[in-house]
Amino acid sequence: VGAGPLLVADRVSVGYGDLTVVREVSVELNAGRTTALFGRNGAGKTTLLGGLSGLLPAGTGTIHLDGRDITSLKPWTRAAKGIALVQEGKRIFRGLTVHENLVLALPRGLTRAAAAERIDQVCDRFPVLAVRRNHRAGSLSGGQQQMLALGSALAAGPRVLLIDEPSSGLAPVVVQELLTAVSRFKQEGVAVLLVEQLVEEVLNGHAEQVVVLDGGKLVHSADATSTSVDEIAASYVG
Ligand code: ATP
Repeated sequence: VGAGPLLVADRVSVGYGDLTVVREVSVELNAGRTTALFGRNGAGKTTLLGGLSGLLPAGTGTIHLDGRDITSLKPWTRAAKGIALVQEGKRIFRGLTVHENLVLALPRGLTRAAAAERIDQVCDRFPVLAVRRNHRAGSLSGGQQQMLALGSALAAGPRVLLIDEPSSGLAPVVVQELLTAVSRFKQEGVAVLLVEQLVEEVLNGHAEQVVVLDGGKLVHSADATSTSVDEIAASYVG
């Protein structure tokens, strides 16, 4: 890894069929830093994550990971290169146990020992998952399910983590726990892109960079320290 940004999206447009939603947006994600992505409902945040993860094709523009062009790579190939997506709504396998969910999230080709070690690492990081290891994922609380979604992302061994509204529908005390868990990824060198509505909480120590979408366009891109919480909260949150 060089000194430059890990993931670079350059004037990327993303949409659905003939409908372009995200228009010529440029974003740089750095290893060991969290970039907060704000915007009203419908601004295109989820669509941008779709474009970066490869779930949605980029209509125009380029995406580079570590200097290599990944624009035309399929989502599973991008995942294998270390781009993890945690979608909104706790998309886990509810009928499987916590342990089975984590096993499914492991990259292919690990030895049995390496796989066991990786699962142990995830359980060390998220103790609640160790406690609930053999419980059905669907029986966990909302916050625990979100922890499992993050744990599954960790099991994949990400270099870039894209997270869509992890706090959605959760109690404030759980939200702080989740944001702290998200910050652990960056402390270990992951480049994080975090979509959140909770501007003050996120800018209060959890993000270093801020980008804002409005009507599918990038309207703000700056350091967190030079970004006004009040202005973002008043103008650009759903
Ligand atoms: P929210 O917080 O409400 O999820 P968002 O900023 O994530 O907002 P997107 O979900 O990216 O916004 O939606 C941006 C626009 O794209 C909206 O106008 C939405 O109607 C449209 N859109 C989203 N998904 C589809 C789809 N599958 N087909 C067509 N249009 C879509």
